Amino acid sequence: MKFFSEIIGHQKIISLLRKSITAGRVAHAYLFLGPAGVGKRTVARTYARALLCPHPRDGDACGDCRGCRQAAEGNHPDLLFVKPAPGTIKIDQVREVQRRVALTPYQGRRQVCLIEQAQTMTVEAANCFLKTLEEPPAGIVFILVSEQPYALLPTVVSRCQQVFFHSLAPAEVMEGLLRLAGLDRERAELPAVLSGGSLGRALALAAEGNLTGPREKVFTTAAALAQASPAQACRLAQAFAGEREELQVFLETLLLWYRDLLVWRLAGDEKMIVNRDFLPLLRREAKNCTVFRILDIIEKVEQAQKHLRANANPRLAAEVLFMQLGRRGENALPGYRGKV
Ligand SMILES: [Zn+2]
Repeated sequence: MKFFSEIIGHQKIISLLRKSITAGRVAHAYLFLGPAGVGKRTVARTYARALLCPHPRDGDACGDCRGCRQAAEGNHPDLLFVKPAPGTIKIDQVREVQRRVALTPYQGRRQVCLIEQAQTMTVEAANCFLKTLEEPPAGIVFILVSEQPYALLPTVVSRCQQVFFHSLAPAEVMEGLLRLAGLDRERAELPAVLSGGSLGRALALAAEGNLTGPREKVFTTAAALAQASPAQACRLAQAFAGEREELQVFLETLLLWYRDLLVWRLAGDEKMIVNRDFLPLLRREAKNCTVFRILDIIEKVEQAQKHLRANANPRLAAEVLFMQLGRRGENALPGYRGKV
């Protein structure tokens, strides 16, 4: 667990959270929303430690007291963690939280309960949790973390103070790779660009080392789609049945590919290409695509991303997009705006 000053990015959010502590205006429930791997959980844990510290310094934990040490080690008696176990957060887990928060804090004035992947609460669990949110015991602070706000009960969302996290800037991802993975600038460049603003993903890409294979799969799928019939497009989409995260990564990589195609068509400058190591394929594909077609595809991929964030079924989202990108996609569905 860290200090706020060690966190990369999200400075506005951090300043708001620190102020809540210095001004004594802490909400009883927060909902941290935003893409995966940008640091929501890190900020949540840091905020939890600061909330539990009896002598906070400028809205952050002092780092020296017993509570701060316990929180850093993950064994503070007033800090509760709830995670899907496995797959979903179940009603028994919520009941256990209710039992704990009904007691007075062991050490200080507060208890903090951090709920990761809050969208995985079963309907029963969410309804049960709602009762606690409606009448929270004094001194409790809930921090819910989620990538899929649409999958949460609206009644739960409306009772939390929502905090929106955005993707990190490329320079911030780069800073994270240098600091946390110990990479040099040259080796950090590609994972930083491919991460789509997610430090978690950049670190995973850097650790994996193999940056060619996964991209190659995406680019050859894109090339195959350009020639695919609707039936073939549907078959290619089957690989994403139930694979939300995999599809999200696929779409980010696909966007980068079409961005490169566009840059190549418009500028023809190798230095501006991100996927420089795929230049022969890029050149070949650029010949088959007009600038208008590329812009159209980029818009459709972004629509698919939007639907996916709104909790669309991954396979269905992939099928609709792939058919649009397929051989007859330009004319097959006139006026269709990609509703899923
Ligand atoms: Zn402290």
